[in-house]
Amino acid sequence: MTARIHEFLRHRREEGPCVVIDLEVVRDNYTAFARSMPDTRVFYAVKANPDPAILSLLASLGSCFDTASVAEVEMALAAGAEPDRISFGNTIKKERDIARAFERGVRLFAVDCTAEVEKIARAAPGAQVFCRILCDGAGAEWPLSRKFGCAPEMATDVLDHAHRLGLEAYGVSFHVGSQQRNVEAWDQALASASAIFRDCQERGFTLSMVNLGGGFPARYLKPIPGVESYGEAILRGLVKHFGNQLPETIIEPGRGLVGDAGIIEAEVVLISKKSDDDDVRWVYLDIGKFGGLAETMEEAIRYPIRTPRDGSAMAPCVLAGPTCDSADVLYEKTPYLLPISLEIGDRVLIEGTGAYTTTYATVAFNGFPPLRSYVI
Ligand SMILES: *Cc1c(COP(=O)(O)O)cnc(C)c1O
Repeated sequence: MTARIHEFLRHRREEGPCVVIDLEVVRDNYTAFARSMPDTRVFYAVKANPDPAILSLLASLGSCFDTASVAEVEMALAAGAEPDRISFGNTIKKERDIARAFERGVRLFAVDCTAEVEKIARAAPGAQVFCRILCDGAGAEWPLSRKFGCAPEMATDVLDHAHRLGLEAYGVSFHVGSQQRNVEAWDQALASASAIFRDCQERGFTLSMVNLGGGFPARYLKPIPGVESYGEAILRGLVKHFGNQLPETIIEPGRGLVGDAGIIEAEVVLISKKSDDDDVRWVYLDIGKFGGLAETMEEAIRYPIRTPRDGSAMAPCVLAGPTCDSADVLYEKTPYLLPISLEIGDRVLIEGTGAYTTTYATVAFNGFPPLRSYVI
């Protein structure tokens, strides 16, 4: 909790849960990335938190932007980024949307198959493309599965196809899984990337860029390595697999830039038991999975929660949201420790909620408004 957020919440009069983002933390995080990886361009993953004030701050600091839709491209442009600072990084795009992004000046696109290459060749002639490869996501708390990327063995064909259709086969990308706590997780993917660089060279064209993706963690309950450790491990991996011919690199942090800049203030609506001899209390908050805490799905992300009664004796509880959907339970398989003295009406602070909260809140499920957001 920063002093600025504390001060803001002290004066807040409106009702209902809200997230407060401290731009100074975003600025510090950006600076830490820029310092720890000085030769790498930062493309902020807009989906993590597209608030205009965050985008403008990052644009003014020199950040580039990783976008997934025409709307996100437009948000980045509106924040002051020139089109050459924008990547259309979603591997799944309508051809019409590729054309719209191209019209707006975007020239950098992600692909993971030849069908997508063909769309780009038609709708964005001459553009740069990078091919995303699969990554197993081991060690990540929010792995990204097999939805994006192709097998590394296929990437050369995809890039070759792009090259032959007049696109610039620019490089390789991967994402090691979000909230990746293992700094060595990039090594295997870098080995694959360097093999693809060699194969493309043999086919007569040269790649230049490795997109190292996101995955940099935010501080939740478990300790995480500092961003310098990631920078060092990635540089070691680059040197190991590329030797003296280091490629141009970019990173796409989302969570790592904004996660720990935000705090949600919520309220305890109800504390109850399911039977007289039930020894686990149910604690219901006025925010849950549908109000912005979707990343508690399968209890993947465990947020630190502070209460006004911290320091007194604790007991495990099931923590749930306020909506009438039984999926709206945050932590049950692994119950959450909260003070026994916690009471209905208490305000609680959910830390590390600057990323993947506002955009994940439903429009009006059960009549609850989307998560209110203040960027200070
Ligand atoms: C979501 C996403 C990111 C950001 O991931 P974090 O783990 O939040 O850093 C980066 N790149 C791509 C392509 C993404 O889809």
